[in-house]
Amino acid sequence: MTVNVLFAAQPNRWAEYQTPLTDALAQAGVQANLSTDHAPGDVDYVVYAPNGPLSDFTPYTRCKAVLGLWAGVEDIVINDTLTQPLCRMVDTGLERGMVEWVTGHALRHHLSIDQHIHGQDGIWRPGHVPPLAADRPVTVLGLGALGRACCLALTSLGFPVTGWSRTQKSIPGIRCLAGDAGLRAALSGAEILILLLPLTAATENVMNADRFGLLARGATLLNPGRGALIVDNDLIAALDNGQLDNATLDVFRVEPLPADHPFWDHPKVTVTPHIASETRPGTASRVIAENIMRAEAGMPLLHVVDRAQGY
Ligand code: NDP
Repeated sequence: MTVNVLFAAQPNRWAEYQTPLTDALAQAGVQANLSTDHAPGDVDYVVYAPNGPLSDFTPYTRCKAVLGLWAGVEDIVINDTLTQPLCRMVDTGLERGMVEWVTGHALRHHLSIDQHIHGQDGIWRPGHVPPLAADRPVTVLGLGALGRACCLALTSLGFPVTGWSRTQKSIPGIRCLAGDAGLRAALSGAEILILLLPLTAATENVMNADRFGLLARGATLLNPGRGALIVDNDLIAALDNGQLDNATLDVFRVEPLPADHPFWDHPKVTVTPHIASETRPGTASRVIAENIMRAEAGMPLLHVVDRAQGY
């Protein structure tokens, strides 16, 4: 049987996905009619990204599942017109990209690389030698697909890594903590903090002044998770009073980050424009195709979003 798959993302994505998705569906043994303009009542599956053409799912009465291209689902999970199962993207390309961004920026601050790039003035200063990674505790909030991969990469570089999640995890080589008490222990004394939580009602503003105060003085913050995990003014205060030495932020409450936002000019903030990691069409197409194949075969879908938890 042929299934109708609607590709509902920003128009420029169609050029990137049409061929890999067509190929992946064929390789998965799915006979599919893939298009950007099926009539709503004819659609069996929606491939979805935020900021695309689709926001009202009501007329998609035949749709069996909505398959997201993004890992973060905070925008669509609150859409009341969506009653079908929603799957988020878990993609090896996305994971590897995040590991590279996180380890790159962690090592940048661990080794004080900026000091040498920006401070080259002809004066030989033997001064500060960075500690070994083994002496620099790192904490990752979020032990999902991305947080876990980053923890493992940082551990392999020698950092002592603590991870925190909602439910207790057990990952070899990582100190895994959970719940409110676990958060306090996870933050206490951390020299590098990495936020890889989804944005939900429970995680919004998780990093406030009190919690920044638990970190080691002069800590580094990396936020590739979501902007609203942080109370912006508390972050700026923590940078200004020296509790934090620097922050590298990829995600913001408002994106694009407004030109007059204080993060742009702050000497201790590095802004990257939500590029920490992107879904890669080749690998992501295989994830979408596998899920459609599974649904057609009566198997459970992968990466289903828990609407009650919001991620
Ligand atoms: P997952 O859903 O796989 O993992 C989420 C993790 O956060 C889980 O470990 C989960 O706990 C934990 N968590 C959720 N709520 C809470 C809570 N209330 N308290 C403690 N822990 C909690 O997500 P991914 O790893 O795939 O992605 C994480 C986020 O990264 C995305 O939601 C998105 O916001 C962001 N992202 C950013 C990108 C960028 O380019 N900047 C690219 C892709 C994603 P548990 O394991 O118990 O469920």
